[in-house]
Amino acid sequence: MIPSVVEEGNKPFLLAKTSGNFFYFCAMETVVSGIRPTGVVHLGNYLGAIRNFVRMQDDSRYKMFTFIADYHALTTHTDAKELRSNVKSALAIYLGCGLDPDKATIYIQSHLPQIPELYLLFNMLAYKGELEKVPTFKEKVRAQEQSGKSINAGLLTYPVLMAVDIIIHRATKVPVGKDQESHLELARNFVNRFNFMFNNGETYFPEPYGFNYGEELLKVPSLDGTGKMSKSAENPNSAIYLLDEDEVIRKKIMRAVSDSGPTMPNQPKPEVIQNLFDLLDLASSAETIAYFDEQYNQCNIRYGDLKKQLAQDLIAMVSPIRKRIQDVLHDEVYLKKVAKQGAEVACESAQATLDGAKELVGLNYF
Ligand code: AMP
Repeated sequence: MIPSVVEEGNKPFLLAKTSGNFFYFCAMETVVSGIRPTGVVHLGNYLGAIRNFVRMQDDSRYKMFTFIADYHALTTHTDAKELRSNVKSALAIYLGCGLDPDKATIYIQSHLPQIPELYLLFNMLAYKGELEKVPTFKEKVRAQEQSGKSINAGLLTYPVLMAVDIIIHRATKVPVGKDQESHLELARNFVNRFNFMFNNGETYFPEPYGFNYGEELLKVPSLDGTGKMSKSAENPNSAIYLLDEDEVIRKKIMRAVSDSGPTMPNQPKPEVIQNLFDLLDLASSAETIAYFDEQYNQCNIRYGDLKKQLAQDLIAMVSPIRKRIQDVLHDEVYLKKVAKQGAEVACESAQATLDGAKELVGLNYF
C-alpha cells in the first residue's frame, strides 16, 4: 500500500491504493471559535458556543482551535486590570466547561502576531460602506454614544478581525451563536474577494460557515423577556452566569418573566413563554418538555412548576461546570502552561497561512 497526499480544492485527502481499489480518507476539517473576555460568561455563551467546542474536540472529524478574543475586547473595554483578570477567568471557564488542551488548541488571540498582520491585509479588502451596515456595529455605536464614549476604528473593523481569527487557520466551521451570522456572511465576502483578487478565483481561503451540530444556530433568550442573554445586559438577573451559585440560579429562574397563562387550548405561546420553553428545550429531558407542552396546550400549566423544574435542570448542568472552573481559576501556573502550549501550535498554523497569503498578495520580493 503506497499512501500519498493529494490536494482537492483546499482540502487534503489521503489517497491509498490496495490491489486496484482506491480509498479516500477525508482530512480533518478545521474549526475555529472564541469568546471575548468582556464580562462574566453566561449560559448563552455556553450553549450557543462553548458546548459545541467541547463536542467538536472529541469528534474525530474536526481539528479544534479555540481562543480568547482579547483584541476584540479592546474595542469596547480598556481597563487593563479588568482585561487581565477576564482573560484568565475566560481560560479557566474554557477548562471548566471541558475543553482539554491535549485535544483542542486553546490560545489567547494576542499571542499570535500573525493575526494583526493578516488583519492589516484584510483591512485593505473591506469596504467602509459594508462595515457601517453591520447590525452589531450599529448597536455598539448606539451603546457607546449613550454612555458618552467615542467610536474607534477598531469597532468598525471588528468583522475584519473576526474573519481573520477564523481564516488564520483556514477554518471552514465556526461554532457560534445566531448573533454572529452577519459577521460570518461578511467573512465569506472577504475570503471570496481575496481569492478572486489574488488567486485567480481559486480557493486559498475556504468559506467559513456557522455550525451547531445539524441544527440552527442558537439564540439563548434573556430571562427578562427581551432579546438574547447578553454579557452587557443592564439587569444581571436577566442572565444565568456560569459562576452563579445554585441558589442564585434558582432565584433568577423563579423571577423570570411569564404571564397569567393561556386562555384557549393550543394557543400560540407569547415570546416570554416561548423563551421559557426554549430554555427547557436546552436543559431538560424530552419527557419534561412534552409534559409542560401538554399542560400549556390544555391550559393547565403552572408556571411555578415549570420554573422549579427548569431551575433544577439548569443547576444540574451549571453546577459541575462552576466547581471545575473554581478548581482552576487561581492556578496561574497551570493557566499559563495551557496558554503557552496553545500559542505554540496556533502560531505554527497561523504562520503557514500568513506566508501563503503574503506570497499571493505579492509581498515576497527576494
Ligand atoms: P461573545 O463573547 O459575547 O462575543 O460571545 C461568544 C460566543 O457566544 C459567540 O459565539 C456568540 O454567538 C455566543 N453567544 C453569545 N450570547 C449568546 C446567546 N444569548 N445565545 C447563543 N449564543 C450566544
